[in-house]
Amino acid sequence: LEEQCFRTQRLESLGTLAGGIAHDLNNILTPILAASQLLQLKFPQDTERYYQLMAIIENNAKRGADLVKQVLSFARGFKGERTIILIKHLISEMLLIAKQTFPKSIEFAIAIPDNLLAVSGDVTQLHQVLMNLVVNARDAMPDGGKIEIFAENRLIDEAYAQMNLDAQAGHYIELTVADNGMGMPPEILDRIFEPFFTTKDIGIGTGLGLSTVLGIIKSHGGFINVSSKVGKGTKFKLFLPAVEGCPAIKTENLAVPLGEGE
Ligand code: ADP
Repeated sequence: LEEQCFRTQRLESLGTLAGGIAHDLNNILTPILAASQLLQLKFPQDTERYYQLMAIIENNAKRGADLVKQVLSFARGFKGERTIILIKHLISEMLLIAKQTFPKSIEFAIAIPDNLLAVSGDVTQLHQVLMNLVVNARDAMPDGGKIEIFAENRLIDEAYAQMNLDAQAGHYIELTVADNGMGMPPEILDRIFEPFFTTKDIGIGTGLGLSTVLGIIKSHGGFINVSSKVGKGTKFKLFLPAVEGCPAIKTENLAVPLGEGE
């Protein structure tokens, strides 16, 4: 218990520190991004090299800004704004982005039943959860592969709830995100939710993706199960408390502000 307490304290101060850094860095990056975009507009007559350089500045600034966003949302402790959310809706927003930015060799297979219950949550945060999971799945399949997403209503009983710390018995949505990528050995699987743990190259991985996912899911009263096999793939199962009696809300009536945050 003592060790756990120490760990929590350390993570808290890490969060405070990260929050400070993230805030400053964001102030630095925002004008870089704006200036580089402006320069590209104002000098249309310049050489190809000029554009290459500008693109490097912009890409790196964007990367920095993404990092800052992740650190900020991690440090903030996931306070969010609750609305009724349909998983179907989250998935179509994710697909919209993935279809534009993922390589064509990444295939999606989605199966969401019509009677799936809704969840109550922060739409921006849950969108981020889904994006982080599919980005990881993409990264685990450099030669292409399939991302399967399916969901079902699940009644979690006391016994099952007790196996998953902090969980309450009741109605849940079980959302599965599976890939047939490289998978993970147990010693990596054990560490994936640690903040800043990454096996990716510097500048590509921040190691904050899954700790953010876990923080968000926990703050929504949910929990996560992961299984993985080297060479076979990885399966994330997210359990989110369902809003009972809320299966058939019209998607058109839901405001889904998928703004970029800051
Ligand atoms: P990052 O993606 O920045 O490395 P994450 O916290 O999202 O940070 O992930 C931590 C690590 O977990 C990754 O570096 C990778 O080693 C491993 N990982 C996460 N998702 C998968 C996956 N779907 N397949 C294989 N490995 C994964």
